Formats: sequence, structure tokens, C-alpha cells
Amino acid sequence: ISTTSETRRVILLGAPGVGKSSLASGFGAEEQGFGVEPEPRADDTYERSLVVDDEEMTLLVLDTWQQDSSQRVQEQNLLCGDVFLVVYSVTEPASLHTAVKLIRTLRTTRLGERVPTILVGNKSDLVRARGVSFDEGRTCAAEHGCKFIETSAALGHNSEELLVGIVRQIRLLGEGA
Ligand code: GDP
Ligand code: MG
Repeated sequence: ISTTSETRRVILLGAPGVGKSSLASGFGAEEQGFGVEPEPRADDTYERSLVVDDEEMTLLVLDTWQQDSSQRVQEQNLLCGDVFLVVYSVTEPASLHTAVKLIRTLRTTRLGERVPTILVGNKSDLVRARGVSFDEGRTCAAEHGCKFIETSAALGHNSEELLVGIVRQIRLLGEGA
């Protein structure tokens, strides 16, 4: 296990109510793996260290995105992230449209960079209220050069897989860029 640990900024994007804050607080609350407690931080910031493929990485998860923030503040969010989780709710097709718009804005703002981006279909536990299929989400992610995962922040389903996916995406795209 490497003793050095780099910190990367993870920015959550998405329409209001899709579960960004629920996902973020879940990351902070999960078991640390080697007995390290999460660092106390501001309400909207969560730090998690995890070991993936024998190497440690520290993720600083920022739940700072607000749909009604000024354009300037939103742009700062888009400029400061090392990896983006673009979240929609599988119960809200409109939230997938919002996610796609956000991905386009991100690509324009970070033109020429290969910014690691994961499209996250949250609320997968709400089976009967589902309005976006797994395949729609996956296809949409592929069209926009994103990795794809469905999660349930309520049940903690796929939370750890998402964290591991973040680390792998950073290593795949974020290094040597
Ligand atoms: P945000 O506005 O994107 O930060 O969304 P929140 O995290 O505040 O969640 C909005 C609402 O959706 C809250 O009532 C959450 O409890 C609920 N919620 C979030 N994630 C899930 C989920 O995976 N499943 C279910 N059933 N509810 C969720
Ligand atoms: Mg929130």
C-alpha cells in the first residue's frame, strides 16, 4: 500500500432533488477500510480516502452545486473539479435532460480536457416509479463519453462501486493529461 495520497476534487452536479446530498453524505459515512475516521469538514464537503488496486486516493467530495447560483459561481464549480458526478433520478426523465445539459456545459467549459465524468442514475430503489430505463441511462452516458452507474443513496446500493469507479476514472483519464 502506497503511503502517499493525492487529493482529488469530486463535484456533484444535477437537478434539485435527485439525491446529490444523500449520495455525498453516504460517501462520508461509509466504513473507511483501515480505521480512519472521516475528517470533519463544512456541511457540503466530505472527505474519503480509499485504497483501489493497492493505491490510496483521497477524494474531497463537494456538494456545492445549486441550480440557482450565479453563472459565475457555477463556472467556478465546473473549473475546479477533477472528476464530475452528474446525477439524475431514474424516476424523473426531466432530470436526465438536465444532466445532459450539464455535461454539455461542462465539456464547453473544460474544452480540450478529458475530464472524468460519471453519469449517475440515482433512486434505483424506487422500482415502481421508474421513468428512465437502465439502457436509456447507459446509452446516454456512452453518447456523452461518460461512465455510467445506477445507485440508491437511500439503500447505499452501489455507493462503494461508485467511489471505486471515480478512482479508476481519474487514473484512466486524469493522469498524464
Ligand atoms: P439533492 O437536492 O440533489 O441534494 O437531493 P437530496 O439528497 O436532498 O434528496 C432529495 C430527496 O430524495 C430526499 O427526500 C432524499 O431522502 C430522497 N432520496 C435521495 N436519494 C434517494 C434514493 O436513492 N432513493 C430514494 N427512495 N430517495 C432518495
Ligand atoms: Mg442537496
